[in-house]
Amino acid sequence: MNVINPATGDRIETYEDDDIGDAKEGLETSMDAYESWRTRPLRERELLLSNVADILGENTEKYAELMTREMGKPISQARGEIEKCEWLCNHYAEHADAYLGDDYHPSPAGSAAKTSYEPLGVVLAVMPWNFPFWQVFRFAAPYLTAGNVGILKHASNVPGCAKAIEEIFRDAGYPEGVFQSLLLPSSSVEDLLADDRVKAATLTGSGPAGRAIASTAGEHLKKTVLELGGSDPFVVLDDADLDDAAETGAWARNQNSGQSCIAAKRFIVHDDVYDEFVDRLVDEFDALTVGDPMDDDTDIGPQARVDLMEELHEQVEESVDAGATVEIGGEPLDREGPFYPPTILTDIPEGSPADTEELFGPVASVYRATDEEDAIETANDTEFGLGASIWTQDRDRGDRLAGRINAGCVYVNQLVKSDPRVPFGGVKESGYGRELSEIGIQEFVNRKTIWVE
Ligand code: NAP
Repeated sequence: MNVINPATGDRIETYEDDDIGDAKEGLETSMDAYESWRTRPLRERELLLSNVADILGENTEKYAELMTREMGKPISQARGEIEKCEWLCNHYAEHADAYLGDDYHPSPAGSAAKTSYEPLGVVLAVMPWNFPFWQVFRFAAPYLTAGNVGILKHASNVPGCAKAIEEIFRDAGYPEGVFQSLLLPSSSVEDLLADDRVKAATLTGSGPAGRAIASTAGEHLKKTVLELGGSDPFVVLDDADLDDAAETGAWARNQNSGQSCIAAKRFIVHDDVYDEFVDRLVDEFDALTVGDPMDDDTDIGPQARVDLMEELHEQVEESVDAGATVEIGGEPLDREGPFYPPTILTDIPEGSPADTEELFGPVASVYRATDEEDAIETANDTEFGLGASIWTQDRDRGDRLAGRINAGCVYVNQLVKSDPRVPFGGVKESGYGRELSEIGIQEFVNRKTIWVE
């Protein structure tokens, strides 16, 4: 695997690929590790996870720079990602025992019934490049602490991150085989998942990859969690605080250079405030700095790969050809590297890519809603159902309308975000299952009922 720094086009590292033979050997190592790992006291597994948190905290700069070099994330945001992983690890190190404690049920006098949480075994994790640390820790911290062992197949453009994470677990004191990163092509995933020794799989990525995993897992009756794409609505009602909504909306769309599943992608704005909001949003987009991702002041770096930026631009061009208006941006920047400017499209034609597809870069689609009903209808008019954000100064109105949006989460007066303390995941084409919180750690366990008469 050759790693290309997207900001410079330079080849920065070459890694030797693993193949399916290596994967099968890796599975053997996982199985050897599993028996003693699953019976190790939970408190010890928690302590090891807090070692992981310490290593992340002590090496934030090193890992942030690695991420920025491999996929172009602005360095200040890369540091934030590592800090969030540290928080996540500390969260499960502190709460896993409560989350996995036995549940007792009312049962006839003299008998006792409880549910206990036991690990499943080897979990295969297929992960994307856009949050190369966060996505991995989101599965590894809870699932390993629950007593599973993990094999990571990371995205092919971030092998350095994959290997660095494996090293973190090793240095934290995890026994060999509890967490492995294999540099595999996606074509080997089917074979690996079909192996009897793999008990479950989790994928964060695109719809086609999700379908491939779900299909193989279905054939072999294995549990999966799928975290897929999104086209989150950002609904601005007539009583919204427009300053706050425009400032937060610009960040919600452009963080991680626009390459986030939970980015605000469709802005749906009440007619009464439409013109004023669009003006403010254009100003906010205009104020963002696109540039060298290693620079602390950069808001938007390069897109992670040239082909991804080309695909994004094709979606914009096709939408414009169909009748969309470009308010700002709309053309790749005239400089070395796949740099795309913050872009706003209005007059979105029905059925155009800006209307129906996920735009995975700094491009916002803005819709005019005639009233509240129309806004909710447009928000739900998508194949995706990951997150949504509603802006209104009437909290009861926000709460009521949140209940009508078909998504895994709805945030009122704030951007959609993930947080270790609350469940995260989607519905519809955005996937199924939940990560994070108590629910996340219970996804890959056997909820075993024990009834003693
Ligand atoms: P992707 O192309 O689906 O890749 C994700 C992972 O799946 C990579 O490791 C990739 O390997 C692998 N993969 C691709 N095709 C596969 C197949 N047919 N079978 C098995 N594995 C396969 O997605 P991406 O471009 O990296 O990530 C962007 C997508 O992820 C967006 O749609 C985004 O919204 C979504 N995402 C969702 C969440 C969430 O929490 N819901 C979070 C982040 C991102 P290779 O790299 O080797 O191709």
